[in-house]
Amino acid sequence: MAKLEDAVVVVTGAGRGIGRAIAEELGGGGACVVANYAKSASAAEEVVAQMRANGARAMAVQADVSDPDQAARLIETAVAEFGRLDVLVNNAGITVDRTLKNLTIADWNVVVQTNLNGYFYTMKAALPHFMEQKHGKIIHISSFVGKSGNFGQANYSAAKAGIIGLTKTAAIEMARYNVTVNAVCPGFTETEMYTQVPEHVKEQIVRRIPLGRVGTAHEVARAVRFLIVDGDYITGSSLDINGGIYM
Ligand code: NAP
Repeated sequence: MAKLEDAVVVVTGAGRGIGRAIAEELGGGGACVVANYAKSASAAEEVVAQMRANGARAMAVQADVSDPDQAARLIETAVAEFGRLDVLVNNAGITVDRTLKNLTIADWNVVVQTNLNGYFYTMKAALPHFMEQKHGKIIHISSFVGKSGNFGQANYSAAKAGIIGLTKTAAIEMARYNVTVNAVCPGFTETEMYTQVPEHVKEQIVRRIPLGRVGTAHEVARAVRFLIVDGDYITGSSLDINGGIYM
């Protein structure tokens, strides 16, 4: 079993939503958390202040992870501040939902750039550190939509499916360095991303979920903690946290 206490963890998109819940869960377990944000400075500073008040070491780092230089700077800042890196949680994501009939090239590119390429950029920067120290854990927040597809989400589902392929290949290549790479695939989860969904669509969504409700960000965060703490022999997997909406 890996220790969470004093593990150095980078969480992308940690100011809000699922990323914030992950930062809180890991900081609460004693990890040193580098909470990345792109725009939500005050939210990220707030989560860091809370973690520090609870005795955890934490810092907020602004970086747009869709930019390879900024993604690399995020990882190097974490290593410079805490001396090493133990866990990378790629969580930052956006949606630009349109049916294929209306989806523009720009709509496609911005979602793939953030949701897929951004994961590669941080991973690429983290790998030399993991390989040198011969341990590390990478957790990618994908989505059930990467497995099932979803009306109006061609760009998003392609990026989320790409994350699962990236996860499996990285798991195969990195195993020799004692680095595990896994994806977590949430179903509909109560965050700002989900609040954008119109009310009548939410009612239809809940009817499709066998467990009869959407998930919470903390339910996803606890799965991330499980992979870090108890997941030494789990790699290349994609763990569904979705109330049964896709099996
Ligand atoms: P959210 O509430 O909209 O938060 C999105 C987060 O991503 C924010 O912290 C945002 O940071 C960050 N972000 C976006 N672009 C970024 C960039 N270029 N660089 C750095 N950070 C960036 O969304 P969420 O629901 O928590 O989603 C988190 C992850 O879970 C995403 O990958 C999403 O696809 C996935 N997911 C969500 C659901 C759901 O139903 N909510 C379901 C399945 C999967 P700033 O505010 O600082 O810009």
